[in-house]
Amino acid sequence: MVPPTRRATKPAVPEQLGFAGMPERLFVCTPSKLGAYTDCPRRYRYSYIDRPSPPKGPPWAHNSLGASVHTALKNWYMASPERRVPESLPSLLKATWVREGYRDVEQERVTYQRALDWLESYVATLDPEDEPLGVERVVAAKTGILALNGRADRIDNRMGPAGPEAVIVDYKTGRSGLSPDDARGSQALALYAFATERMFRRPCRRVELHHLPTGAVVAHEHTEESLARQVRRAEETAQDIMAAEKAVAGGADPDAEFPVNPGSLCGWCDFRKVCPAGASVAAKDPWTAVEHLSA
Ligand code: SF4
Repeated sequence: MVPPTRRATKPAVPEQLGFAGMPERLFVCTPSKLGAYTDCPRRYRYSYIDRPSPPKGPPWAHNSLGASVHTALKNWYMASPERRVPESLPSLLKATWVREGYRDVEQERVTYQRALDWLESYVATLDPEDEPLGVERVVAAKTGILALNGRADRIDNRMGPAGPEAVIVDYKTGRSGLSPDDARGSQALALYAFATERMFRRPCRRVELHHLPTGAVVAHEHTEESLARQVRRAEETAQDIMAAEKAVAGGADPDAEFPVNPGSLCGWCDFRKVCPAGASVAAKDPWTAVEHLSA
């Protein structure tokens, strides 16, 4: 058994100090920050608290692929409507292509071609005249506990039964297909909808996942109650994080307050090599998740 690694890190600094009589500061977060804690408190600590941050593993090819496709679609919408034509896609994708993580040039070449195929199929479903409310748009909102912000891939402007509505669109480039449960259960999508509704002062209840490899769209219609439920869960997570940070600041063992959560995510974790639980998990190659594209 690998002995737990005691890292020499600066003590965690609580985000909320809470002096008597002073209002508590809000917990500043993104959906991915909250998600990191929910997935694994130790990974959260490595990412957001320990300074200097533990060294990460090498870049992942699937992250490069996702970033390339997302930026190409962003730049598609940045162009004027008459320039949103399929012929522009190769240069858009080439300009945004991230090369890191691939096994070799041949794998990268095949993956680039697949990504281009996905984009061509996808933009064929778009109306070039459509102007979304936002593309890679930062949305933000506050609650009694959270100062929430995040970047939505796209916020569509659509006509609903009672007037204009905002719709959250999130692009997916992963291998596995999606089910409506993925859209329903996504806390990130719900928090984007919550913040968008407040910022744009119009209903934003529909969230959609657009899976580029298959062209599938899975959607969920939130209600006021379901959005409130997701916000409440996010607040509970924030309170757990703040309690752990305060405990560490008060002398508690950081390893106990931010425990490991070993599981299938460990193979994909950037901190696998420095984490006592991850060290025993079989390593994935940086290109494992894109290997099927070149098979
Ligand atoms: S390797 Fe696993 S247990 Fe360790 S930080 Fe990463 S996800 Fe958590």
